[in-house]
Formats: sequence, structure tokens, C-alpha cells
Amino acid sequence: MSETGESGGARAEIGVIGGSGFYSFLDDVTEITVETPYGPPSDSLFLGEVAGRRVAFLPRHGRGHHLPPHRINYRANLWALRSVGVRQVLGPCAVGGLRPEYGPGTLLVPDQLVDRTKSRTQTYFDGEPLPDGTVPEVVHLAFADPYCPTGRAAALAAARGRDWEPVDGGTMVVIEGPRFSTRAESRWHAAQGWSVVGMTGHPEAALARELGLCYTSMALVTDLDAGAETGDGVTHEEVLRVFAANVERLRGVLFDVVGGLPATADRDCLCVRVHDGWELGIKLP
Ligand SMILES: [Zn+2]
Repeated sequence: MSETGESGGARAEIGVIGGSGFYSFLDDVTEITVETPYGPPSDSLFLGEVAGRRVAFLPRHGRGHHLPPHRINYRANLWALRSVGVRQVLGPCAVGGLRPEYGPGTLLVPDQLVDRTKSRTQTYFDGEPLPDGTVPEVVHLAFADPYCPTGRAAALAAARGRDWEPVDGGTMVVIEGPRFSTRAESRWHAAQGWSVVGMTGHPEAALARELGLCYTSMALVTDLDAGAETGDGVTHEEVLRVFAANVERLRGVLFDVVGGLPATADRDCLCVRVHDGWELGIKLP
């Protein structure tokens, strides 16, 4: 760590929301604190270079994993990333598999999500004035396809390039947590045809879309969810063990994805055009 301070001139173009395992070994990591109109993000941003690209890493749960999924300030996290220049975000996360064939170690790049959270603010455009006096208009943005198609293609290519055949597409259902699902909930999720269950994928993806950011989810299956399993159900120890066993592999894939993303100016996807026709009422950072 070479510096701690305000964002100043430090910039990045790609954001990775994930644990410290992804950046702690990089050379020349710069730690910066960023204030947002929505309060502090989960932690400092850690800026470094990967594959010749400037990347900002943000520990989703804070250092030491002290924030449960429902207490994460998702609005501050995405805003902070955008304010240092980030326009494309990778969101690796741990999930439970809802099908027997999606066992621990499966990497799934979802193309759909279902929101079953309960208490999270999922918009910047809530009519509440910001500290600078501006007032966001009420807008309703397209979210039929919640993930960036360019980012998804890069993620799939990167995984295949490292002989980790990913599951291309599928639906991630996001639950409130922090508890895991009951067997009945899990059976219901599976019966809907949904693929994996997580706790952080929403509203992260929705807020990224509202900020015009490209967002790509990469879901690492750490366990078979309750209904798909005949044993005692999911334990936190099991989740941590499988994640630790795969974090190095996932980091390699993530870094290859970073190298495969287009330059900010070359983005040509639905994420860039999402604000067309809307008055936002606030200035995005
Ligand atoms: Zn995009």
C-alpha cells in the first residue's frame, strides 16, 4: 500500500467487487478512501494494474468480512467505483447450486436474476435530494437483460481459456439472507428452473445499470443448496472451504476477463445507452 487518502487523481477503468484474495498480492496497490452522497462504501478502494488496465478492487463485505449482505451499502459501492472512473464492473460471488449437476467448483455466468431480497434500496432515483441539493427524477430503466453481454462473453472466454468450462447463462435468485434457505424454499427455487442462489447479486446489478455501468456476475458454486442436497444443508464452513480452494483459479480467470474487456471509449452495449430519453435530475460522478 503506497498511499491512503482522498481519491484525488487516482483513476481506474474497471472495478472488481470481491474479497481481498483478488488484489492483496498485486504490486503497487494504492488504497484510497472515497466519500459518496450515500455514505461510505464497504471499504477503501484498492487501485492496481492488471493486464495493463487500471483496476479498482472493493471488498464487498469490508475487510474482515464484517458486513452481512443486507447491510452492504450497495449504492455507495457502485457510486464510489464510478467516481474514480470505473465504467465496467465484475462481480464475482459465492452461490449455492440449485441443480445436482451444479456442484461445488462450478463457475456460472448468469444471464438472468430474480430478486427475493426484502430490505435493500435498489435505486438512486428515489426522489430524495442529494447533499448538493440536486433531486433525482423518478426513472424506470430497462433491466430485462440485467448483465452486460460484452462482459459475459469476456468472462466465458476467460474461463474456457483456463480450462474451466463455465455454465453459460442461468438465473441467479438473490435472497435476503444472512440465513441460508430452508429446504422448502430451496426446492421452490429449483422448481422454478432457477440455477443458483446468492445473497449479494441484487441490488448490485440493478444499481450498476442505473449508473450506466457494465456489470458482469461470475458465480462460483460453493455448495449444493438445501433442497438439492440430502445431507444437513449448507454450512458457512463449507462455503468458506470451497471458496478458498477456488479463489486462486477464480483470480486467474478474473484477470483474464479484465484483459478481455473493451476500452471505456469502445463500449457498445445496452448498458451505455440505458439513460437515453431520460432526464436524471442528478449528475453522475
Ligand atoms: Zn455493457
